[in-house]
Amino acid sequence: MKNVDDHWRIAATRKLLKARISWLLIGCWTLLLGTVMLVQAGDPSYRLVKGTWEQGSLLIGETTPGAAVVFDGRKLLVSPEGLFVFGLDRDAKSPVLLTITAPGGKPIVESHTVAKRKWDTQPLTGIAPKYVDPPQEVQDRIAAEQKIINAARRRDTAISDFATPFVWPATGRISGIFGSQRILNGKPKSPHYGVDVAVPTGTPITAPAGGVISLAEPDLYFTGGTVFIDHGHGLQSVMVHLSRLDVKVGDRVEQGQPVALSGATGRVTGPHLHWGLYWFGEKVDAQKHTGAMPVR
Ligand SMILES: [Zn+2]
Repeated sequence: MKNVDDHWRIAATRKLLKARISWLLIGCWTLLLGTVMLVQAGDPSYRLVKGTWEQGSLLIGETTPGAAVVFDGRKLLVSPEGLFVFGLDRDAKSPVLLTITAPGGKPIVESHTVAKRKWDTQPLTGIAPKYVDPPQEVQDRIAAEQKIINAARRRDTAISDFATPFVWPATGRISGIFGSQRILNGKPKSPHYGVDVAVPTGTPITAPAGGVISLAEPDLYFTGGTVFIDHGHGLQSVMVHLSRLDVKVGDRVEQGQPVALSGATGRVTGPHLHWGLYWFGEKVDAQKHTGAMPVR
């Protein structure tokens, strides 16, 4: 009887083992199929929270906290919640590369085509000639100011206001849009990188999102009274032609907080707020990022 019992036990163990191996195989296949399906879906490691693969767009993504994200060769800050941001310049060229490496995982590289946008042409006349062709004696001043601007734009701070929805810093008629090719007094000049809101001098200008003041200059040659707000991860608001500044570098501001008064300083044809969004040196469309102007 002992032998029969042993045989039965061996047979039962083999059956159990076979069943386990079968389940293991099914499990492996499910995992494999799941992986293949995810890879086919295109983005197994992140999702886009905002933005499109189009010139002038600001893209916000969400990934696993602790993941490494590289966009076109630049390593991006990733917030503790897994949020990151990058911008596609007005003149961004295809393709662009996004690489995401989850903690302990292999890098996943995506190549994207950047859709081209069509830009308006905006001829402007009546601008003081010194702003169209600056005289030799102000060239040093312009170069020095550009250095200050460039230094502010290089900031890469772990502030996460970039991920909040933006609001308009002033409301009024939109008198200039992002991307237009500018013809100043008949001469083609650099494109327009902001959105212009026609408001009278002295109108309070508020922070479109929270952040830290990274530049506060009352009198720059081209842009007059100028304020930069660092919203974190390389994203900054640029507000120019201001008549009065109410903040200084290093101040923390919250969304909706007044930072300055509008004006007509620098190269302008009349009082308005010029508001631009920069992701490091990339110029993105603040109007598109913020959405429709609220009805007053
Ligand atoms: Zn403007």
